[in-house]
Amino acid sequence: MTQKTLPVHDFDPVYGPVTSWRFGRSLGIDAIGPISTCPFNCVYCQLGDIQHKTTQRQVFVSTAHIQQSLKRIDPATVDVVTLSGSGEPTLALNLADIITCAKAQLDRPVVVLTNGSLLGNPAVRSALQVADQVAVKLDALSDEMLQGVNRPTTELNWRSIVAGIKEFSSTYQGELALQTMLLSPWNAGKQAEYIQLIKEIMPDEIQLNTPSRPRARTRQLEARGNRVMAIGSPNLQPLKCVDLQTLQNFAVEIERCTGILTRYPQLKQA
Ligand code: SF4
Repeated sequence: MTQKTLPVHDFDPVYGPVTSWRFGRSLGIDAIGPISTCPFNCVYCQLGDIQHKTTQRQVFVSTAHIQQSLKRIDPATVDVVTLSGSGEPTLALNLADIITCAKAQLDRPVVVLTNGSLLGNPAVRSALQVADQVAVKLDALSDEMLQGVNRPTTELNWRSIVAGIKEFSSTYQGELALQTMLLSPWNAGKQAEYIQLIKEIMPDEIQLNTPSRPRARTRQLEARGNRVMAIGSPNLQPLKCVDLQTLQNFAVEIERCTGILTRYPQLKQA
C-alpha cells in the first residue's frame, strides 16, 4: 500500500519531548521533512525503508517553519534539543541556522545525531561546530559490514566515512559521542579493531546500543519519537539484537582499554 506523504507546509518538524536513555527529555527537530531521506538505509532503521537515498544536501524544511513550530514549546519541559527525525540531519543545508535558532528560542543544549557519512565535507563539519554535542554513528569496521548493516549509497565507502569522522574529531570543540549498534556479539578480533579505531578517533563518549523493538518495514512518521506500533502488525520486522550482559561486558572492555566513558541502555529484558 502506498503511503500518503504530507506536503511540507502541513508537516510539523518539532516532536516530543520523548524520553531518551542518552539525553533525558529530548525535543526532536526534524530538518528533513515528510519523506525519509538519508545516504544510508540501515537494516534496523525505525523509519522503515528509506524513501530517498541520497548524499545531495538541500533545504528540506525552512528555518522559519521550524522557528514557528518551536513557539508552542515550553522550555521547562525540555532537557535537550535533538536533531534527528526523518533521516540524516546533515543533509539539511540550513543545519547551522536551525541549531542557532533552537538555541536562541529554547536556551537548551542542541545535539545532532548523524551517521557521519557527510563528515568528509568541510561545509558539514563547519555547520556542526555550533552544536553542543554531535553523536556519530559507527556500526561498521569494514566495507563489508557497512554494506550489510548500513547499506549506503554507492558513492560512499567505509574508509572515506571513517576519514571524515577522524577529521571532524580533530577540529570539533563540542562533545563528540560515537554510537554503535550491535546486532550480534562481536568476536575478539572485531572488538580489538573497534577499540583501535576508538583510540584513533578519541571521542568524549561511546554509546553502545542494540535494537530494542521491531522495525517498521515502511515509513512511519511517528517512529521519529518513542511510539511503538501494535505487536503483531504485519508491518513489523523482528530484529536481531544482543543481550544486556554482552553490551555491558564490551562496554567494560572498551573503558578499560581506552579510558573513554562507554554507556549502554538499561534494557528491560525478559
Ligand atoms: S542513518 Fe539513521 S536515518 Fe539513516 S537509515 Fe540509518 S538509522 Fe535510518
